[in-house]
Amino acid sequence: MAKKEFKAESKRLLEMMINSIYTQKEIFLRELISNASDAIDKIYYRALTDDSLVFDKDNYFIKIKADKASRTLTISDTGIGMTAEELENHLGVIAKSGSLAFKKENEAKDGHNIIGQFGVGFYSAFMVADVVTVVSKALGSDQAYKWESEGADGYTIVPCEKDSVGTDVILKIKENGEEESYDEYLEEYRLKAIVKKYSDFIRYPIKMDVTKSRKKEGAENEYESYTEEETVNSMVPIWRKNRSELKDEDYENFYNEKRYGFDKPLKHIHINADGSVVYRAILFVPETTPFDYYTKEYEKGLELYSNGVLIMNKCGDLLPDYFSFVKGMVDSEDLSLNISRELLQHDRQLTQIAKHLKGKIKSELQSLLKDDREKYEKFFKAFGRQLKYGVYSDYGMNKETLQDLLLFYSSKEKKLVTLDEYVSRMPEDQKYIYYATGDSVERIEKLPQTELVADKGYEILYFTDDIDEFAIKMLMKYKEKEFKSVSSGDLGIEADENAKTEAEENKDLFEAMKELLGGKVKAVKASTRLRSHPVCLSAEGELSIEMEKILRSMPD
Ligand code: ADP
Ligand code: MG
Repeated sequence: MAKKEFKAESKRLLEMMINSIYTQKEIFLRELISNASDAIDKIYYRALTDDSLVFDKDNYFIKIKADKASRTLTISDTGIGMTAEELENHLGVIAKSGSLAFKKENEAKDGHNIIGQFGVGFYSAFMVADVVTVVSKALGSDQAYKWESEGADGYTIVPCEKDSVGTDVILKIKENGEEESYDEYLEEYRLKAIVKKYSDFIRYPIKMDVTKSRKKEGAENEYESYTEEETVNSMVPIWRKNRSELKDEDYENFYNEKRYGFDKPLKHIHINADGSVVYRAILFVPETTPFDYYTKEYEKGLELYSNGVLIMNKCGDLLPDYFSFVKGMVDSEDLSLNISRELLQHDRQLTQIAKHLKGKIKSELQSLLKDDREKYEKFFKAFGRQLKYGVYSDYGMNKETLQDLLLFYSSKEKKLVTLDEYVSRMPEDQKYIYYATGDSVERIEKLPQTELVADKGYEILYFTDDIDEFAIKMLMKYKEKEFKSVSSGDLGIEADENAKTEAEENKDLFEAMKELLGGKVKAVKASTRLRSHPVCLSAEGELSIEMEKILRSMPD
């Protein structure tokens, strides 16, 4: 049979794809395993409506076999197989996905478990192989066919022998180049690791002949090696299990296995969303701040799976910056497997999931605050600063989401309080939410400026973090109450007559004092706020002295 050429646009696409869509070569295995799994799914769905077909789970599996001598890697499946025509149509025209067509036809039959729909995954095999051979026998057909290609210049299809229904994809692995190594794709341990990494949760067993060693019979210290077929993937991922089946310990193990952190999770969130967006997710709030958290090196993101197959290690688009401490994974059945990072950003599905996750994280943190204050405070000590940054950044766009998650130290309670707690116990005549800034609680307590406010019996929030006042400026108000620094000029507290006459009487003295200080102060005034301290500094405008200090220390 004469060699057929790929359709012209296919040729270009093939080259483009090999060089750009996939950044890591190892994912070819993920793609081929996904296709094999799709092919088995197709039999499963056919069996749902075809009484002559029985789907016995034990008969369906994927097998990976490496042969170093011939440099071949074979991925076999007992799936639905392909006819000559299908080999031609599905492997000859790139970006025409047979699985997408199947899905469309079977929409009513709930065919949404099938992963493929983009129609380029198969060609990723050419990243590691010089020659790709596909031997396939379709369900209900007596004749098997062999498709073969050396890459962009075309393919052949010829009849061949194959006993059982299914497909073998045989890769002739490339020789090592000067810079690239391909030998690893024939190594048992490496293949096993790739399967574990990307395809651990494929629903069918992925089998491999694994070399093991055992004591030689009758001999003392002699060992012999033998091979044994092993199922490499664990098949049922924790996020597909029922929450009621799982214990805290299971989530902790998952957290550790996944290396989300070396600590323990403070809280886990298991989501099984079945509404307008369908996905499952397991999220974690870590117990401690990662060492690089408040640095540029820290990269936010969740693992992203498409129907049990890992497609991205750190999908940053799933989390807003202010929740960047959240770790975990999301699995959605509706994402295209082969989708690239750029395309993902525009994926509507993904945007919806991100929105949903954001709401869920917020409400879970809120109930933690309500139900387990101690734990919440621990969380806030580790990541509260990030929430405050969140209020401040994006022009305050997220203040609604975040304001009720903030905690500040209270002069009255001598512990952390929420803004809601503050406002709810404000005396009738108190107009503002008062705050004082300083390096530490101890230092703020010694500030003369706090005296009048404290004397009035008003509560003061102590801002000890640089970001506190910036965040509050962005909030402006909380429940219609404005924030007011205790060092601002007008405190909104009735000045007593005494102070007013004092100011009149001592006008000259104050002028002289101002002269003496030689322009270091704008004015010297009688204060209505001091009790035991003779004198204090006060700011004229809306900026507190601390904030001015920070602003002045910033480079222009
Ligand atoms: P996608 O999986 O996104 O549809 P691929 O390039 O991975 O695109 O595969 C193209 C098509 O080839 C699949 O849709 C499917 O119809 C067919 N195919 C690939 N591998 C197999 C297989 N192992 N068994 C049956 N059909 C397959
Ligand atoms: Mg595919």
